[in-house]
Amino acid sequence: MNRERVIEMLDLLGVSPTHERMQQVFAIRDIPMKRIGWIGFDMDYTLAIYRREELDRLVHGLALERLVGVHGYPPEILEIPFHPGFAIRGLCVDKSTGHLLKLNAHRQVKKAWHGLRPLEQSEIDLYWREVLRLDSRRFMRLDTLFDLPEAYIICALIDWFETRALPCDFRKICDDTRAAVDLSHQDNSIKAAVLADKERYLIPDPQLAATLRSLRNRGRRKLFLVTNSNFAYTDGLMSWLVGAEQDWTSFFDLVVAAASKPRFFRESLPAQRLNRAGETIEPVATRFEHKGLYEGGNVEMIEQFFGDTMLETLYMGDHIYGDILVSKRARGWRTVMIVPELDEELDLNSQAPSRYADWDRLDRELDLLNDEIAFVTDARESLDEALEQEGERAVADPLRQQVHALHDELLDQSQRLKEARRRLIQRIHLLQSQVDQKFHPHWGSVFVEGNDRTLFGDSIEEHADLYTSRVSNFLEYSTEHYFRAARVAPPHTNDAKPNRPNPQD
Ligand code: IMP
Ligand code: MG
Repeated sequence: MNRERVIEMLDLLGVSPTHERMQQVFAIRDIPMKRIGWIGFDMDYTLAIYRREELDRLVHGLALERLVGVHGYPPEILEIPFHPGFAIRGLCVDKSTGHLLKLNAHRQVKKAWHGLRPLEQSEIDLYWREVLRLDSRRFMRLDTLFDLPEAYIICALIDWFETRALPCDFRKICDDTRAAVDLSHQDNSIKAAVLADKERYLIPDPQLAATLRSLRNRGRRKLFLVTNSNFAYTDGLMSWLVGAEQDWTSFFDLVVAAASKPRFFRESLPAQRLNRAGETIEPVATRFEHKGLYEGGNVEMIEQFFGDTMLETLYMGDHIYGDILVSKRARGWRTVMIVPELDEELDLNSQAPSRYADWDRLDRELDLLNDEIAFVTDARESLDEALEQEGERAVADPLRQQVHALHDELLDQSQRLKEARRRLIQRIHLLQSQVDQKFHPHWGSVFVEGNDRTLFGDSIEEHADLYTSRVSNFLEYSTEHYFRAARVAPPHTNDAKPNRPNPQD
């Protein structure tokens, strides 16, 4: 078959062929789309991507007002200026110290801020002896993009109190800020502002309707929506995103709003059925009906609705816990993590390939130096031991003198090598911080930290099957595409990337 001819013909017929196989959807585990019978979507930051700076500015202002009005903070804090992009996803707040932390996949603290200043390395080192229990009440993880303005408010408040030498209760600041942001979501003030000015707060996605249509695979596959947003808000956003040409609800076989994830996946919450205008038509619905619109309900009801099927369910969401981890753990759903930050990371990665090559080369030099230092140190210690065991006087001259000379030479060499290593490590750190700063001036990459993955990157690898920056990236793939994961070789196998220096280098 001549692929080009088929594509040309489809183009002539005005049918859009899926010919550009751009690597935008990344596979951690294999997903043959042929086996997927149901595709579910979260809405906020999954189908609806917000203009973050605008949304965060809104949340910042509303939360400060509530800190003053509800929690009794001094009105002067209303002057705290908004700082766009202060935090990145995956950071944690240590409520006991007020520090904002970036951790790597091994849960080691690698970067940290207190208030509006970075911590010194000696302060970060204090965490090294601790095994951090991140699921404890001491830590607050920034799991979704909605959480980021909160991190800045906490840091800015700590700075505000400390620079005025006022008493500063870190835990209270964290809890009050959490409550103030939560209230801004619950009392509808964020939603009302977004609905009133969608152009300002949402990024249009001209491909979304076409993507949903394509994923339905000519009616062979069913789509559903499960969002924590209420129906009225969902209706407002989805109508705007999909456009007036087609009623957005017609893309979905089932719509569940106000779903209370993660409880949706774990508890038997009740549902109510709504009509298209959002009015309740069945206050207690015990089953989901085809093409039904609901608020509430639970995963048992969805699976009952799917019926007996050998086909699998794929769910796309942006919340590593509430969408991805819990749906996989509770029901074994296959998952797609939507990471809007990925586009920028991909751009920056493509700009810096030579940096990574330099970095690899310096790492290999460091391996070599470490080997040499270990050899020289071992040799010197073996000489010391031999002399000690013989009893120094028993070793006759000139051998004794030669041994002493060699010992001094080794000592000298070891000092020179250690100095070279110190300089090399400095160069590696400099290179790392230059790469980091391209991603984010304080925090570096969302996915990579030094030679490791970040805690966030690691959670994605552990719980998601695919990840991509937006749902409409699926439009570039055939609807029956086989997403194949990259083969990862364990370090002891021949295919593993060597971490030993290559003799030719
Ligand atoms: P989803 O991502 O479509 O499930 O919807 C997320 C919903 O949760 C949106 O309506 C947000 O406004 C809301 N939300 C985000 N953060 C908070 C919070 O801290 N408290 C209450 N609601 C929140
Ligand atoms: Mg979401």
